[in-house]
Amino acid sequence: MTKIDKLEKAAKAQAEAEFLELIEIDSPSWGEQAIAKVLLRKLKELGMETQQDETGNIYGYLPGNASLPPILLSAHMDTVEPSKGKKATIEPDGTIRSAGAAVLGADCVAGLVEILQGIRLVQASGLPHRPVEIIFSVAEETYCEGLEKFDFSKVKSKDSYVLDLTGKIGTAARRAPTLVSFCATIKGRAAHAGMEPEKGINAIAIMAGLLAKIPQGHLDTETTCNVGIIQGGMMINIVPES
Ligand SMILES: [Zn+2]
Repeated sequence: MTKIDKLEKAAKAQAEAEFLELIEIDSPSWGEQAIAKVLLRKLKELGMETQQDETGNIYGYLPGNASLPPILLSAHMDTVEPSKGKKATIEPDGTIRSAGAAVLGADCVAGLVEILQGIRLVQASGLPHRPVEIIFSVAEETYCEGLEKFDFSKVKSKDSYVLDLTGKIGTAARRAPTLVSFCATIKGRAAHAGMEPEKGINAIAIMAGLLAKIPQGHLDTETTCNVGIIQGGMMINIVPES
């Protein structure tokens, strides 16, 4: 067994213990303070310079071989709901699953642990390494609200890995689709539809005219559009206001 093999074996056990430690901390979106405190301590123990911005995002920097380009590693600290009282159970084959009604929180605690263990392993190996930047973000599950407020001007790395994806080990996604959602309210004017309809402005009729102009389905080979919910009107004898 080489030194690296031995270190990897130890890292595997450490990773499991650290994963179980971190998932027991409640960390819903915008409620990441408790896990952030623990992660800041762990990053400092690795010798990293750390900062936490007003939003709660953590930035860490680990000096490395100055002739090598820095690399950014990132994961998020929040989990989806239901997230209260997360508990894990380990099956005979080693698979870790949620033991209760709450999520396990592997998304993205697995990513957090991979980053921490990866740095520990590199440090223990004594091999030269690139300078490492870390971003542990808040509120990723609410459409990256946390990172929206992060000051990216401080990031030096041109390469980055975000450890927040399932798939075959050793593969990565270079691009991913995104979603632009919108909600429109058409304001007309209400009026009695039998007595004085001319005083009203029919919001549903306006909406129908607009909808006819919005293309649905495939717009091109990689873009689709869908209007999925429509609500409006009060009574059949009222010109709808919205
Ligand atoms: Zn995630």
